[in-house]
Amino acid sequence: MLSNYPFLAMIICFFAEIENLFPKWRFELFLTTFELFFNLRNIPLIRSLMKLTWIALILVFGYQLNDLSAQSTNKTDADAFFIREIYNSALTKGKSYPWLEYLCNRIGARLSGTPQAAAAVEYTRQMLDTMGLDSVWIQPCMVPHWSRGEKEVVRIVHSKMGSFDLKALSLGNTEGTGPNGLAAEVIEVKRLDELENLGREKLAGKIVFFNRAMDPTQLNTFAAYGGAVDQRGLGASRASKYGALAVLVRSMTTRLDDVPHTGSSSYEPGVTPIPALGISTNDAELLSRLLKDEPVRVFIRNTSHMMGMKPSHNVIGEIRGSEKPNEIILIGGHLDSWDVGTGAHDDGAGCVQAMDVLQVLKRLNYRPKRTIRCVLFMNEENGLKGGQAYAEISNRKKEFHLAAIESDRGGFTPRGFTCESESKAFDKKYKQVMEWSSLLEPYGLNFKRGGSGADIGPLRSQQGLLFGFEPDSQRYFDYHHTAIDTFDAVNKRELELGTAAMTALVFLLDKFGVE
Ligand SMILES: [Zn+2]
Repeated sequence: MLSNYPFLAMIICFFAEIENLFPKWRFELFLTTFELFFNLRNIPLIRSLMKLTWIALILVFGYQLNDLSAQSTNKTDADAFFIREIYNSALTKGKSYPWLEYLCNRIGARLSGTPQAAAAVEYTRQMLDTMGLDSVWIQPCMVPHWSRGEKEVVRIVHSKMGSFDLKALSLGNTEGTGPNGLAAEVIEVKRLDELENLGREKLAGKIVFFNRAMDPTQLNTFAAYGGAVDQRGLGASRASKYGALAVLVRSMTTRLDDVPHTGSSSYEPGVTPIPALGISTNDAELLSRLLKDEPVRVFIRNTSHMMGMKPSHNVIGEIRGSEKPNEIILIGGHLDSWDVGTGAHDDGAGCVQAMDVLQVLKRLNYRPKRTIRCVLFMNEENGLKGGQAYAEISNRKKEFHLAAIESDRGGFTPRGFTCESESKAFDKKYKQVMEWSSLLEPYGLNFKRGGSGADIGPLRSQQGLLFGFEPDSQRYFDYHHTAIDTFDAVNKRELELGTAAMTALVFLLDKFGVE
């Protein structure tokens, strides 16, 4: 009903103005019809009111036109504009690079249970504290403390080539040979199931050499890694059951080089914990060649040892949601690293990106509807105790993670996100996420179904969406778990683009939610 009054006023003004502008046009019919209004027009107060009405109408009409067009197309434009702002902020005022520099160059390697890991907890807590978040806290968890011990020796004694050392690193969580070392003949296998065929007769008293290369034809190197890493994780445990004395494992990289890779290994209950060491891919090729000519004996000495459990912490900071604080959107990485290198790509990059997501949102004065929480998990590399403790506490508090995004595939150029969920409604939810593709494609980002991340995996039972941030994977395994995973291996722009990509997804999840 109210909308009729401006319309009536508009007609009045229309005729009043016609007569003003064109006094010679005496529309007798109109004059008769609107005689009353024209007479009223001669009263000064009414005249002023008419002019004001006219101005008001123009303003209202203009505003409504603008509003109409905003509703039809600019919901997307406003979102696209804000994502652009996110990128601008991350690329010009990002903090991830200096934070990573401090973590890698001032604190260094952050193996669980070490003073450096504790220093990293304190440093990142302080950095989060400076951001003006709603809460920052550390969450206790018990972690295994493994020590590499003295520098490893893996020495070939060969009839023609003499005696020389291979580039080797003890595998994480394994036990060493002890101070005297051991020497034995080497037997090469490609697969775990070959052990059963060879049996105790061929394996007892030997050093088993696992030499299956990562498949170079896989375009995604994580798929190639997944196809080879069982040798590293389970090789020692399986070989021990057949009386082997130790294992050597080809490093997990497609590159041929002299850089040995470490990484987690474990013993199944009840097996004798035999030494396990990774050797560089060049040395794996060499050893394999030598074995084709004659039996090869290798001397191994390492003093690696599991030191037991130690107290440590996850680091957490959040901006509380203004409308739906109980719906949590998590971003995270893992704060611990291996003891060689300084954990720059794995996973200092993921940690500083997750922290920077909050920094960028705060800088843009973004007030989230939902709670945005950054979690730096402890002990992903050799125990996953931080991720497990976090999920346990979260479940106990009956929290709900609407979504969790993990960055643990290096600080390389962003390509998109993998997505998974245990929810029965996953297909429906994933479809909603895919609707944001047009906003992210300009930045080279795509969604695909697939595994998310080790630390957020334990949150699966909450049935939210689990995302893995996916950068370009081609160079990651050049550095992964090695002494060359250092700050200088990370490109500033690529790192910051990762922050921006994650922030953009957080923004879309927060604004639209998923049902
Ligand atoms: Zn990692």
